[in-house]
Amino acid sequence: MKLIPLPAFDDNYIWMLHDGHRALVVDPGDAQPVLAALQSEGVQLQGILVTHHHPDHTGGVDVLRDATSASVFGPANERMPEPLRRLHGGGTVQLLGLDFKVLDVPGHTAGHIAYFAEVNGEAPVLFCGDTLFSGGCGRLFEGTPQQMLASLGQLAKLPGATRVCCAHEYTLSNLKFAVEVEPDNPQLVAYQAQCQALRGQSLPTLPSTIETERQINPFLRSERPTIIASARRFDAPGVASHGAFAMLRQWKNQYR
Ligand code: ZN
Ligand code: FE
Repeated sequence: MKLIPLPAFDDNYIWMLHDGHRALVVDPGDAQPVLAALQSEGVQLQGILVTHHHPDHTGGVDVLRDATSASVFGPANERMPEPLRRLHGGGTVQLLGLDFKVLDVPGHTAGHIAYFAEVNGEAPVLFCGDTLFSGGCGRLFEGTPQQMLASLGQLAKLPGATRVCCAHEYTLSNLKFAVEVEPDNPQLVAYQAQCQALRGQSLPTLPSTIETERQINPFLRSERPTIIASARRFDAPGVASHGAFAMLRQWKNQYR
């Protein structure tokens, strides 16, 4: 299986997975990079997976549905380009001979879902949209900190080797904040250097892995004493009572 992040807009990735014949793409905000990749890779689009309703994730769906025979899958409870098959957490989708498990991960949007699959002889894959980013997490447009914390907790329990396919290249700005929160985390400092080198060559920092994110992502580590202490340094009025995760998210919103 080949896993390819197709750059779109300023910092989106449309993920493509293919077996040399059939392909799926995730969150095609723009059809053009997908059509170009289908041609250059010589593969047919079998399925389109959508994680949430934002236009930078759905904008290319209609064009791709018309141009190919792909089936479209998306969240049960969000406004989506019809027709599509709507999925609930706990459901599954079969594509490319893989069983994708659907996870409910509300927070960024109210009905956000993620897709997880074991891949024979390779590391599993997770398509998590705008929920988990490398070194960070999505903004809370429609959900509460408690919902996002639970959603991220669910993702953090996946196998450590899982390839984390996020929908944006936000890694360096996330890591700048992460180092501010946790300056004494050696794995974080080393990971930052590694990602800076990749971006220096215009290469993607993704996919990350669940194991890496558990080690370096402050939003998966908000229950740790050092992170709680750090979050308290940033005391937004009224946020502290909602816990360290809420403080961290609020801090990051204002961080430059
Ligand atoms: Zn979004
Ligand atoms: Fe997005």
